[in-house]
Amino acid sequence: MSSLRAGPRQQSGSVKVGHLKAVVEPDAMPEIDLHSHSRYSDGSLAPADLVALAARAGVKALALTDHDAVAGLTEARAAAAVHGLCLINGVEISAAWNGHNIHVVGLQVDPENPILRDGLARQAGARALRARHMADKLEALGMTGVYDGVLALAQSPDAISRTHFSQWLFANGHVSSIQQAFDRYLGPRKPASVPMPWASLEDTVSWIRAAGGVAVLAHPGRYPLTRTKMRGLIAAFRQAGGEAIEVATATEKPDMVQYLGRLSVELGLLASQGSDYHGTPAPWIALGNFPRLPAGCTPVWTAWGWPVDGLPACMATDVATGSVPVVAEALS
Ligand code: AMP
Ligand code: MN
Ligand code: MN
Ligand code: MN
Repeated sequence: MSSLRAGPRQQSGSVKVGHLKAVVEPDAMPEIDLHSHSRYSDGSLAPADLVALAARAGVKALALTDHDAVAGLTEARAAAAVHGLCLINGVEISAAWNGHNIHVVGLQVDPENPILRDGLARQAGARALRARHMADKLEALGMTGVYDGVLALAQSPDAISRTHFSQWLFANGHVSSIQQAFDRYLGPRKPASVPMPWASLEDTVSWIRAAGGVAVLAHPGRYPLTRTKMRGLIAAFRQAGGEAIEVATATEKPDMVQYLGRLSVELGLLASQGSDYHGTPAPWIALGNFPRLPAGCTPVWTAWGWPVDGLPACMATDVATGSVPVVAEALS
């Protein structure tokens, strides 16, 4: 069994977050990956293959967080039982805030909750409509077979993402890279852009909380915001009932990880971590591979009773004996 400790220890500390007071053991915990995508949104793998890959990579607790969808969780849960991995029910919800497209991750949500399901169904409907409009715009530019081509890459019409459009544009020689697809066609105010009626930040947080989950502001460093505006976003998120920010993701620069870690402590928010794995759309990202949480952060998993320094000891033991599925089921 691999050690739960991934590297040399950093300095321990103590921090108070709401009702929680915890002694912080800020070791990296690549065994806990709280952000990933499957084919049910814009990831390339089926949930069962994603879970199998995560297990092979040494991940012991994985949150599947598909964009505006919980449809992959059943398949992922069955695979998690086979591979002795703890699956955390997750979702990444698209939200609108001050004209920006913001992502809010929900962790430990009940995927059957009707409030969450209703909200996600509205978002999915908007996705399906947008895909038609985007395809029409690209056809108006002279491209052919756009809608059918994009749909063939997606799990269903209401799961079509701009990622699928970028893949289609690249595969059909209209752009020379995925990034160019966003720069030329798919980014804000570009020719194939269609403004989306995403739910408000407040609504997305309230759906997650209604479903018993913890709301996490996803990758705050990736939005085109000044640090002042980022603080404004985090304040609005907290005001809405958000409890955590994603401090460590694979794409965040080291300076930003440190800054977000300090902000989480200063503002009394829990800290989350995850790879944001998509598979082939972002092949440079690997499951379980992201920076460690900075010293002083209180990890988000303390919200569901796991120890600050990672997985419950019983789970680590049971991974060794191969009997983790029962424990994982009880924990997640
Ligand atoms: P959507 O939710 O359909 O608007 O698509 C957003 C997704 O597109 C994000 O989750 C990313 O996976 C992907 N994406 C957004 N911007 C870029 C970019 N510049 N390069 C590559 N992928 C991107
Ligand atoms: Mn994505
Ligand atoms: Mn995101
Ligand atoms: Mn994501």
